[in-house]
Amino acid sequence: MEDLDAIAKEINNCKRCGLWKFRTNPVPGEGPPNPKIMFIGEAPGRNEDLQGRPFVGRAGKLLDELLNYIGVGRDEVFIGNILKDRPPQNRNPQPEEIKACTPFLDMQLEVLKPKIICTLGNFSSAYILEKFGHTAESISKIHGKSYKVINLFLNLVVIPLYHPAAVIYNPNLKATLMEDFRVIKEYL
Ligand code: URA
Repeated sequence: MEDLDAIAKEINNCKRCGLWKFRTNPVPGEGPPNPKIMFIGEAPGRNEDLQGRPFVGRAGKLLDELLNYIGVGRDEVFIGNILKDRPPQNRNPQPEEIKACTPFLDMQLEVLKPKIICTLGNFSSAYILEKFGHTAESISKIHGKSYKVINLFLNLVVIPLYHPAAVIYNPNLKATLMEDFRVIKEYL
């Protein structure tokens, strides 16, 4: 099994889809190698592309605030994304990009073995829930629910959450997101 650095190196050299042509830096994700919680966003934005780090822009500030709200340090969690390169103009990830890029996320999950996976927004919720045999509905229906994954090899919970960027567009969602973050606490 590869370690996180080896996976990041592969991501740095990746040309599996066309997004590498636009990237300043790939964003493999960051956090400790044995986190209890993993957050999975959609794709790097402009700031993330410039810095090579996940959630460092406005959505990231909000994520930091929400972590603080439940008393969890950003340095305790792993933060990754479905896509490791920024889509032009932050457009939605395309199916072929998700297909090309998610083997990296799968490898990261194998190494990290988180007990709690928080998916941020529709794209990561759909990918992760379907990967673990659940049916994914729209995030407006499933946010804040807990989906257990228990089998011979795994014992974890997936908690789909609104993407913090959604709050930037609709400030009314902030209270909902805060309430949903408290669900995470129940599993700590
Ligand atoms: N939005 C995401 O989905 N991921 C990031 O890393 C930053 C913003």
